[in-house]
Amino acid sequence: MNCVGCRLANEQENVYVVYETATLTCILDYMPFNPGHVLILPKGHAGEVEELDPKTAIDIMEASRFLSKAVNAAFNPDGITIIQNGGVFNDLDHYHMHVIPRFEGQDFAEFFSEEGEPEDEAVLAQAAGELIRIIKEMEHHARV
Ligand SMILES: [Zn+2]
Repeated sequence: MNCVGCRLANEQENVYVVYETATLTCILDYMPFNPGHVLILPKGHAGEVEELDPKTAIDIMEASRFLSKAVNAAFNPDGITIIQNGGVFNDLDHYHMHVIPRFEGQDFAEFFSEEGEPEDEAVLAQAAGELIRIIKEMEHHARV
């Protein structure tokens, strides 16, 4: 398990896990476009979208739906952008889908030119705490 994405997805690196299923780990991007920027990673290795097994691909779409609801509730963005970069644009060499809250006036081209610094731990921890609180509420309501 040498791929950095595999290590992130299996919590062998320091990550803020906000949501998890049998097949997926959903973590905060450590250089978020905005607070609440989440990555959905399969626990098993897949590099490109066409390498995903169909069940995992469906799980990823379902997780993006669930996380969008949570991100909207937690951060009230003007919209959410969901993307996945393949090939040389995949900086983890491991499939990951971005769920990104955005606000009006934020040109998405900024996302691709970003050479930012990692976000402060305190900011990440606060965003993770808020998302986890909302997700627990959503899971609770789904059960009752
Ligand atoms: Zn991997």
